[in-house]
Amino acid sequence: MSQYDLLLAGAGHAHLGVLRRWALVERPPGRIALLSPGPEAWYSGMLPGLLAGRYAAADCRLELQPLCRAAKVELIEGEIAALDATSRQVELADGRRLAAEWLALNVGAAVAAPPQQGDAMQLLAVKPFAGFLAGWQQWQAEPRRLAILGGGAAGVELALALAGQVPALALFCAGPLLAGHAPGLRLRALGHLRQRGVQVREHCPIGRIEDDWLLSGDEPVWCGRRLLLASGARAWPWLAASGLACDEQGFVAIRPSLQSQSHAQLFAVGDCASLAGARRSGVYAVRQGPVLAANLQAALQGRPLRQYRPQRHSLALLATGDGGALLAWHDWSAGGQFYGRCKDWLDQRFIQRHRLVG
Ligand SMILES: Cc1cc2nc3c(=O)[nH]c(=O)nc-3n(C[C@H](O)[C@H](O)[C@H](O)COP(=O)(O)OP(=O)(O)OC[C@H]3O[C@@H](n4cnc5c(N)ncnc54)[C@H](O)[C@@H]3O)c2cc1C
Repeated sequence: MSQYDLLLAGAGHAHLGVLRRWALVERPPGRIALLSPGPEAWYSGMLPGLLAGRYAAADCRLELQPLCRAAKVELIEGEIAALDATSRQVELADGRRLAAEWLALNVGAAVAAPPQQGDAMQLLAVKPFAGFLAGWQQWQAEPRRLAILGGGAAGVELALALAGQVPALALFCAGPLLAGHAPGLRLRALGHLRQRGVQVREHCPIGRIEDDWLLSGDEPVWCGRRLLLASGARAWPWLAASGLACDEQGFVAIRPSLQSQSHAQLFAVGDCASLAGARRSGVYAVRQGPVLAANLQAALQGRPLRQYRPQRHSLALLATGDGGALLAWHDWSAGGQFYGRCKDWLDQRFIQRHRLVG
């Protein structure tokens, strides 16, 4: 079994920030590794642009090896299948075992899927991105009518990127479209979706799939053979099985120091973690990066830890698939090509900032 002083599990947004900081400023002492299922990290903010044909795949992903080399961190390719929180030992899907004195989890989340009876309907989850893109390429070769599950920012962006690439597109939301966002953003998004011919079904939770039907309650609401899942985050089952204190949905319960509530030598950030006031979005994961970098350094050197305070509001920027974007801040919203250029600039800046050469 390989032993590390610190293991960073998952190349999520916060860990990318940690590696960048350590590459540019100061890295804590000891043997440190990053564990990632593949050699690249995909940037979700640019995925809608990639699907709309505005970006190439290479624009939207980061090679991890140069960043790790610059931060003097080992890159291990592998995927956690099981974790023992008390001993901080992980078992990888291929059977390898790793142990660490300190462990940080930034492993994102899976996508929720309704129970399915029969295999008449093909399901494609938006994450992990590499698998999604491979599946989408196959679907694209033979376009068919499509339904998208999920009326959050991701579902709306995907619908706007894909409308026009399939003969008919329906978008299903359990509640109102873009719940929790500024009311003006919802109206603007509905206008764009209507203009592109997307059939939007709000307040229509899909409870199960039977053959080629989507059912809401007992009512069949859509018939087809392709369903794209952008239906919110579901915790990896191995988190709750690890012995870590988790919230009722199975996400790791953390303190403001980003440490697990039950295991102080284990940190968790981004979508896999649960902290009052922190939303599951890349923006929050990115903001946790600097606090995590400082706290891991402090933890390894026995110094006091900082507190992360989630921002009360965050800027929403949704790509409309035509180079434009919708923007919302508090209750204010706007839209147009100018905001699309702002989004492109911010997204490309994120990628450029992490393209370090070691
Ligand atoms: C289409 C789409 C568009 C989006 N656009 C935006 C946006 O514009 N702005 C925004 O703020 N949010 C956006 N989001 C939400 C955003 O993607 C997530 O909230 C964000 O990625 C969460 O970041 P994270 O750091 O927690 O994890 P992620 O970025 O999901 O990274 C998790 C990492 O962990 C790795 N991993 C997973 N399982 C394991 C395992 N078992 N072992 C080891 N490693 C593992 C993965 O490979 C991945 O590298 C979008 C989501 C989608 C689907």
